[in-house]
Amino acid sequence: MTVEIEDAPAATAAKAPKPDGVAMAAGDTARAALLEEVDAADVGDYAGATAEGERVVSHRFACTRKGYVGWHWSVTVARASRQRNVTVDEIVLLPGEAAIVAPQWVPYRERLQPGDMSPGDLLPVDDEDPRLVPTYSFGDDPLDADAKAQIREVAKDLGLGRVRTLSPEGFDLAAQRWADGEAGPEAAIAQAAPDQCRSCGFMMRIAGPLAQSFGVCANGDANDDGRVVSFDHGCGAHSEVRLAKKHEPVPIPEHVFDTLSLDEIESF
Ligand code: SF4
Repeated sequence: MTVEIEDAPAATAAKAPKPDGVAMAAGDTARAALLEEVDAADVGDYAGATAEGERVVSHRFACTRKGYVGWHWSVTVARASRQRNVTVDEIVLLPGEAAIVAPQWVPYRERLQPGDMSPGDLLPVDDEDPRLVPTYSFGDDPLDADAKAQIREVAKDLGLGRVRTLSPEGFDLAAQRWADGEAGPEAAIAQAAPDQCRSCGFMMRIAGPLAQSFGVCANGDANDDGRVVSFDHGCGAHSEVRLAKKHEPVPIPEHVFDTLSLDEIESF
């Protein structure tokens, strides 16, 4: 049996545990323990050993079980201080690089994309969402959850309006998203536009911290009608767009009643 010692990654080389000779040589013990747990037909060749810690080594064996291509059995053995023999700690089946495994779990909250919401869907926002801050001030004293809930109730009862409003971070995130999106300066329609929204009569001003950079397009003929547009966005429906003379439509002359020639009338 060959014992292969894996190189530790360069960054952690200084901290790599020193392989224990007895534990590294315990491949046969590891195989015997493995065969007590799984069918011999499922165990393939020895595939090496890795020092996991002080006097702790994992021995690997190929897995030949159907459907587990690229997986391997890992049997971890340990030797207690001043002991000659190892004990078996655990036996697990692990995926290798070629193994087919399920994609990494992504929490549902992080999978949502704009446009995924359907009528009736609910998407609660965390109490601690950094995009929002209480509309009223909590002051400098940190408050516990109960105190915050009480203040929230009082604010509601007093009719102070919205319980929470956008935080500076919330404003920054929204501004970045809008500027990077289809209503920002890099959009193809903006790149080809004759002028920018900042000078367009159809752009409605908004209030608040983003008023210096964004407005709402109110041109029913424009693609962005009803959407927030950045000042440096633009489109061909800009209020001051004028066609060059050669592109102007040729005026259609008034209709003339022809009194000189005879009309051909179809007879039945
Ligand atoms: S019509 Fe075009 S240029 Fe004018 S505000 Fe809307 S998107 Fe901007």
